[in-house]
Amino acid sequence: MTPERLEKIKRVLDHRQPSLTVLMEEVHKPHNFSAILRSCDAVGVLEVHAVVPRGGLPTYNATSGSAEKWVSVQRHVSALDAIAQLQERGVQVLATHLSARALDYRELDYTRPTCILLGAEKWGVTQAAADASDHNIVIPMLGMVQSLNVSVAAATILFEAQRQRLQGGMYARRQLSDERYEELLFEWAYP
Ligand code: SAM
Repeated sequence: MTPERLEKIKRVLDHRQPSLTVLMEEVHKPHNFSAILRSCDAVGVLEVHAVVPRGGLPTYNATSGSAEKWVSVQRHVSALDAIAQLQERGVQVLATHLSARALDYRELDYTRPTCILLGAEKWGVTQAAADASDHNIVIPMLGMVQSLNVSVAAATILFEAQRQRLQGGMYARRQLSDERYEELLFEWAYP
């Protein structure tokens, strides 16, 4: 471990945002799963949630840039249970879902504890999960195609969250507890 590497790990941990996460509802394509993880790492997400698709969790591929080493994945059997658990912890769940109550994603406050719910490539977010979420959000689409690739949608929203959190000073002060910081520093520095 070089001193430069240790400094980088500390800097990244100083920027981690434990109150920002995503829940992937049966996202099954390895390149999408990997790309979402990579964007999560880039904005400082510490842990993501995934409802395991029928064929099991997708494997990572080169698209991840090894982000799986730095962003952990919490598995769930049911989206509704995962949403309920997050909400019990005071996290607002924002379903990316076109519905009558859907808001432009830029109208939301991402400085609050937030989980972005992402849907499967073919089917999107299930109606039950969208209904259970605090808000439905969409990225306005002005072209001929109806939807974005799920990893592109994830990155678009995550970077809006990053923008708001930067503005709110949330990257300027450590968000991890001292205990969690020390644990992760040890894990990352001495894998
Ligand atoms: N046919 C599906 C549907 O009706 O929802 C399309 C699914 S889309 C290819 C896969 C996922 O990408 C969606 O569930 C959502 O998470 C995300 N997504 C794609 N376009 C989006 C947009 N314009 N706004 C918000 N999320 C979007």
